[in-house]
Amino acid sequence: MSFQSLGLSEALLKAISKKGYTTPSPIQQKAIPPVLEGKDVLASAQTGTGKTAGFTLPLLHILSENPKEKFKPIRALILTPTRELAAQVYANVREYSEFLNLKSAVIFGGVNQKPQVTTIKRGVDVLVATPGRLLDLQNQGLLSLKRIEIFVLDEADRMLDMGFLRDIQKVINSMPAKRQNLMFSATFSKEIKKLATGILNNPVQVEATPENTTVEAITQKVYRVAKGLKTGLIIKLISDGNWKQVLVFTRTKHGANKLCEKMGKSGITAAAIHGNKSQGARTKALAGFKSGKVRVLVATDIAARGLDIPLLPHVVNFELPNISEDYVHRIGRTGRAGAKGEALSLVSADETSFLRGIEKLIDMKLPVQVMEGFEPDPNASTAPIKQGQGRQNRNSRNSNSKSSGRSNRSSNTNKNSSSTRPSRNSDRRN
Ligand code: AMP
Repeated sequence: MSFQSLGLSEALLKAISKKGYTTPSPIQQKAIPPVLEGKDVLASAQTGTGKTAGFTLPLLHILSENPKEKFKPIRALILTPTRELAAQVYANVREYSEFLNLKSAVIFGGVNQKPQVTTIKRGVDVLVATPGRLLDLQNQGLLSLKRIEIFVLDEADRMLDMGFLRDIQKVINSMPAKRQNLMFSATFSKEIKKLATGILNNPVQVEATPENTTVEAITQKVYRVAKGLKTGLIIKLISDGNWKQVLVFTRTKHGANKLCEKMGKSGITAAAIHGNKSQGARTKALAGFKSGKVRVLVATDIAARGLDIPLLPHVVNFELPNISEDYVHRIGRTGRAGAKGEALSLVSADETSFLRGIEKLIDMKLPVQVMEGFEPDPNASTAPIKQGQGRQNRNSRNSNSKSSGRSNRSSNTNKNSSSTRPSRNSDRRN
C-alpha cells in the first residue's frame, strides 16, 4: 500500500515524501481511511508505530478540503498529556502542513502564555494543547472551542494516569456536540474503554499491534544486580559497550539527579529530564541528547511518552516502574518505526514483584543474566519497594497542571502511599 492509494492530497504527499516516508505504517494504513471518511476512530497504537501521522495526515486533509471561515476559529484540537508530546505533535503538524494553507499552534504550561495568546488571536486552524493550559486560557476567555470540527485525544491512557479525566470532560463540554472524534491509546484498560464510550460516536476500532505487547525489534534483557551496585553496572555497560545515546529511566526525580551526577563524575555526559526541571532545562536536555552532545538522558516517567528520538538504540530501566504498562511505554522509546533497539532492566531483589507484573502483562519471560562483579545480593529482601519511598516533593503537582482537584484518585493514593499496591497516580509526581 502507498500513501497515494490512501487518497491523501498532493500537498500532503509532497510533505510525506519530504519526511522520507515511503510506505504507510500499519496503524496509518488502518486509521487513515476511516478518518478520511469522517468517522470516529478508536485506535490502539503502540508508541513508535507512526500514530501521530495516522491522525494528523487525514485531519489536515479534511481541514484543507473544506472551506475555511473568514474569522478563523480553531477547527481541530489535539489534546496530549505532556508538554514534550505536545511539542512533538506540533512539530509533526507543521511539517505535514508545510504545503497547505493551514495554521497551527501549540500551547502548554510552564512557559509564558503571552506569545501563545498572540498566535491564537491571529487565527489557528489546528491547536495542539495540554489540558491545563488549554483550560486556563479558556477560563480567561482567550480561546474558544465552539467551532471544533475534529477532536483528537492522544495517549488517552496516559491522560487518565495523570488524572486528567475531569479536565478532558470540561474540554469536551465546551466543544460542539457534532464533531469528529479520534482517540489513541497504547494500552486499553476498562477505564479507557469507558472514556471512549463517552467521547466517541459509533467508532471504527483499529489496532496496529496486539494490546500491551512490546515491539519485536526490541531486544529485552534483565540484569539481576544488588541495589547498591546498579550505578557501577550501568556505567560499565555504557563504557564497555561504548554506547553513544542511552535513555535511562529512574523512579524518582531525586534518583535521576543523583545518577546524572555520578555519570558526570565517570566522564559520561548526562542530563536529567523530569517534572522538577524548568521547561527551558527540559528542552535543553532533550536537544543536547538528540544532537549527541549529551550521551545519557536520565528521565522519570513523564519523559516515557512524548519523546521522539529516531533510532534510539538503548533504553535502560535503572529501576523498574511500579506500573507494568509504563514498562511498555518506556522501552517503546527504542525500536521505533521498525528500527532495532535494546532495552535493559537492572533489577534488584525488591523489584521482583514489579518484574513478575511486567512479564505477566507482556506475556513473556524476560531473559535474565548476571554480570560478574555486579551480582545480586543473596540476602536482600524481595519485599516490594514501598510506593512513595524515596520520592521528593510528594505533593507537587504534575508538570502540566496548575489548578487543584485534577484527580479524584490523588488523595486516596497519598493516603495509601505505604501500600504495595501499584499506584498509577504516583508518576504524576515525576
Ligand atoms: P509516532 O508513533 O507517531 O511517535 O512515530 C514514530 C516515528 O516514526 C517518528 O519518528 C515518525 O517520524 C516515524 N514515522 C511515522 N510514519 C512513518 C512512515 N510511514 N514511515 C517511516 N517512518 C515513519
